[in-house]
Amino acid sequence: MSAVDRLNEVKGRIAEAARDAGRAPGDIELIAVSKTFDADAIRPVLEEGHRVFGENRVQEAQGKWPDLKDEFPGVELHLIGPLQSNKTKEAVALFDAIQTVDREKIARTLATEMKKQGKTIRLYVEVNTGMEPQKAGIAPDDCASFLAMCRAELGLTIEGLMCIPPFDENPGPHFALLRKLAEENGIAKLSMGMSGDFETAVAFGATSVRVGTAIFGAR
Ligand SMILES: *Cc1c(COP(=O)(O)O)cnc(C)c1O
Repeated sequence: MSAVDRLNEVKGRIAEAARDAGRAPGDIELIAVSKTFDADAIRPVLEEGHRVFGENRVQEAQGKWPDLKDEFPGVELHLIGPLQSNKTKEAVALFDAIQTVDREKIARTLATEMKKQGKTIRLYVEVNTGMEPQKAGIAPDDCASFLAMCRAELGLTIEGLMCIPPFDENPGPHFALLRKLAEENGIAKLSMGMSGDFETAVAFGATSVRVGTAIFGAR
């Protein structure tokens, strides 16, 4: 099966999960995660008309996306991997959304860099719903104060929350927690769900799902 066939299959599964949850399929955005795949592997998916993609490394994305963005107008590129502050300038220049705002320093650097470049990036705060020590993200208990700081001190608009549940746990409670945090803090968007659990995420209210393997194949 080609990546385009798998893309269409994933879209169908999202639509079905949405209908099962009493939601409109169009309310869920599919982010095709193209990390580790080169431009030739991505191009057919662009030719099919898909425009929303996710990458987890700034440097890797810089190697393929400037040319693809020229070739295919309307691409919307999301950074879904960790951002180092020394890469903020490049990230703001290339990406349309950054889903991994996970500490004050990065929020500050992003605010400064967006002003400098005159560019507004859609921002998501990453929440470490499983409180995993090795994982990035704001602790659930610190979420409200972090969001308040982003708004009041930095003047940032935070569009959504993002989480990556622990690999070996039922993701449902993590998705539910992310949704609760969003509701408590007046945040509209939820980026949650990957190849293994995007249908569950849709049931719990995901507005974006980030799907790599199920579209492009194993990495
Ligand atoms: C790689 C990645 C994905 C996609 O994972 P798959 O299991 O391949 O669908 C989603 N979100 C993040 C943050 C990732 O790094």
